[in-house]
Amino acid sequence: MLHNDNLEQWDRENFFHASTHLAEFARGNIPQRVIKTASGVHIEDRDGNRMLDAFAGLYCVNVGYGRPEIAEAIADQAKELAYYHSYVGHGTEASITLAKMVMDRAPDHMSKVYFGQSGSDANETNIKLIWYYNNILGRPKKKKIISRWRGYHGSGLMTGSLTGLDLFHKKFDLPLAQVIHTEAPFYFQRKDLGQSESEFVAHCVAELEAMIHAEGADTIAAFIGEPVLGTGGIVPPPAGYWPAIQEVLDRHDILLVADEVVTGFGRLGTMFGSDHYGMRPDLITIAKGLTSAYAPLSGSIVSDKMWAVLEKGTDENGPIGHGWTYSAHPIGAAAGVANLELIDKLGLVENAGTVGTYLNTQMRAALTDHPHVGDVRGEGMLCAVEFVADKDSRSFYDAADKIGPQIAGKLLEQSNVIARAMPQGDILGFAPPFCLTKDEADQVVTATHQAVASVLG
Ligand code: PLP
Repeated sequence: MLHNDNLEQWDRENFFHASTHLAEFARGNIPQRVIKTASGVHIEDRDGNRMLDAFAGLYCVNVGYGRPEIAEAIADQAKELAYYHSYVGHGTEASITLAKMVMDRAPDHMSKVYFGQSGSDANETNIKLIWYYNNILGRPKKKKIISRWRGYHGSGLMTGSLTGLDLFHKKFDLPLAQVIHTEAPFYFQRKDLGQSESEFVAHCVAELEAMIHAEGADTIAAFIGEPVLGTGGIVPPPAGYWPAIQEVLDRHDILLVADEVVTGFGRLGTMFGSDHYGMRPDLITIAKGLTSAYAPLSGSIVSDKMWAVLEKGTDENGPIGHGWTYSAHPIGAAAGVANLELIDKLGLVENAGTVGTYLNTQMRAALTDHPHVGDVRGEGMLCAVEFVADKDSRSFYDAADKIGPQIAGKLLEQSNVIARAMPQGDILGFAPPFCLTKDEADQVVTATHQAVASVLG
């Protein structure tokens, strides 16, 4: 049934693919790719093409593909107990163990973890908890959420609103009114301001202050941000950004949500990005790296400060009115336990730091001098190369030229290396599994150099 010659036809006729040009796919103008198997950093399609996946799926297969330890934990859990819910105090050995493991790794001031299925639903949970919190504290007006342009927080109604990318709003009637966006800490793209990096941080802070002043601090509940902007372009913050933002939020009693869906569990070479940048979040969003995507599972980690108010709320109002059928799904939880054990056992957080730094250093050395490479940046096992039409004037290509997608296409065609053309701007993103070796990093850099030369000369 699974092995047949009709798959392409079935795919084009029946399957509504995520984030895809639907009409072009249906017409057959977008290649179909059926991935069949994978091991380590390599994936293989059903025609036997083997590719080095330098984006770890969607920056999620952090331990690499084909880990029998996780597959077996999933199978064992499915045989013993495929499902039970987590309502009204129920749990499973896997979900309770995973909660303990997550909280052992989370910053000290965090209290509990609520499990969902995706990064999007975890951020929906976060916003509900924030609104509940302010209602319990008798602050019914304090509800708006500040997000950043170019932030990515999911594609639901609220989370799509938090996301600061035009494609996720356009024609969907988003963003919702409770969400407002402020300047992204994207120094390279704002060099037109003619500021030093520290002046640019001051500018971001001033923009935030002005927004809080205009809206009224008594209407603003929270600020959400990824420690390193991910889908918006893989942009580490300029030095001093997070401490400066944190100071403003603390002064105005505004909660901080650290969206660590990408950075959580080691991608920056530290367990959490919050640790890495000295953020003090009230909520931390986790997903991808929690199970390395072997099964869907996400989480909202809640601080002591918020937890006390949530308990007060249930004393006053009864059980919290929030839950999904699949919250803390035992199969996801079993995958999470096995995944976090493997990360520790293999020292993968450390490897993400050392090999990630190597990848960034080599990429910079190979590409910085290219006349159409404007910026090579990254942190830990995240790296991005941004292309410009003219380096001196730092002018960008027309989006219609699709330079980023062309280079990603060439990289795959010439060298069987997968990088991601980020959705806004000509930015090639890399986020390999943490088990990447230095040799594989060299392979990625050489292949990228060749692909850039093929497209841009
Ligand atoms: N938050 C961040 C930072 C993400 O990168 C993503 C997905 O890429 C999400 C949230 C949404 O997660 P999901 O796609 O699992 O809903």
